[in-house]
Amino acid sequence: MKIMVSACLLGHRCKYNGGDNYCEEARALTDSHNVIPVCPETAGGLPTPRPPCEIVDGKVMDRDGVSRDREFRAGAEQCLELAKEKDIDLAVLQSRSPSCGVKCVYDGTFSGRLVEGSGIFASMLRKCGFRVMDVEELKNDPGCVGKGGTPG
Ligand code: SF4
Repeated sequence: MKIMVSACLLGHRCKYNGGDNYCEEARALTDSHNVIPVCPETAGGLPTPRPPCEIVDGKVMDRDGVSRDREFRAGAEQCLELAKEKDIDLAVLQSRSPSCGVKCVYDGTFSGRLVEGSGIFASMLRKCGFRVMDVEELKNDPGCVGKGGTPG
């Protein structure tokens, strides 16, 4: 399978604070699948480290109140084009991120509260019909990649 994976899950230090979200279950996908790492935020030209961002009333803002919507959308579009070009079968994405979150994201108040919803990139993938999976699903059941996972 061709699987797009949030680069931070593979150990790339592209997380907003300069760290990563390394996940052995995600890394193990590289043993038997064609894995394509992407980071929509850095693809959009944002530096690492960078201020944390959340989705506020549908727009991406950083903690200092600066709009980062343009960069987030540009980076997500770029990664979406790559997904189309590679004709991926699945995307496995980091939880809760305003770009990559699949099931929930922070609520826009920078207080750590979560709400149901998706990040900018995950939403774009879904709208185009790609199968997306929260990495937590993979951690809970590493065999779920071949089983269908979260629809659409
Ligand atoms: S945008 Fe996605 S890949 Fe990049 S650091 Fe955030 S969660 Fe990871």
